[in-house]
Amino acid sequence: MNPLLIEEIDALLPQTQCGKCGFPGCKPYAEAIAAGSADINQCPPGGQEGIEKLARLLGVASKPLNTSHGFPRFDKVVAWIDEQLCIGCTFCIRACPVDAIAGSGKQLHTVIAAECTGCELCIAPCPMDCISLVPIDEDKNDTDRKQAADNARARHQFRLLRLEREKRAGKTESKHKPAVPAEKNLASADERKRAIVQAAIQRAAAARNRVNHPHSPVKPHERS
Ligand code: SF4
Ligand code: SF4
Ligand code: SF4
Repeated sequence: MNPLLIEEIDALLPQTQCGKCGFPGCKPYAEAIAAGSADINQCPPGGQEGIEKLARLLGVASKPLNTSHGFPRFDKVVAWIDEQLCIGCTFCIRACPVDAIAGSGKQLHTVIAAECTGCELCIAPCPMDCISLVPIDEDKNDTDRKQAADNARARHQFRLLRLEREKRAGKTESKHKPAVPAEKNLASADERKRAIVQAAIQRAAAARNRVNHPHSPVKPHERS
């Protein structure tokens, strides 16, 4: 593979890192295009403008977006967490490809809006359905947009390196698994959601019980 070509292709991709193209991030998609194993019209966030840029770079004919991968958005959105509902399960952190969510186990989580690419990957794994996408005003010129994409690329690369380090250090069930489109794992995700919600309900009931009966023993599954 030609590393320079991969870099040039990657530079034209939006760095949302959403996986909608069918690859686990923009760089793997760039590699597949360079290898001739993926078409240039698979990136919904890049939209038609992105396809035109890729066509020009590669000297091939442009084509319409393949909407089986999704549709482009015309507004800029970021994720927002309703902290009243968050149970601190960390599923969203594990899903975020650019480490744009702050928080740790059993604590409230919050989105660092300036780092969020709006990739939507945190929404499906949330067992409390407390993450939504909210539109933001964006007054960015091409230079600002490039800077934001460069920043997202760097954060994603840093995350991949960190995951690799953690894996080598033996943290196999890492708290921060690589981002994959959540729908790939729906059955197990639904089971996990149910278990987490059930555990949260039990903890809340136990906390209420302790308020009403302060001398009753705390059972293991009720410990927060
Ligand atoms: S923005 Fe999403 S769909 Fe586009 S190349 Fe990157 S990961 Fe793929
Ligand atoms: S916070 Fe959610 S929407 Fe924003 S980048 Fe992370 S996973 Fe994507
Ligand atoms: S996945 Fe939902 S409930 Fe779990 S920490 Fe994130 S926002 Fe909170």
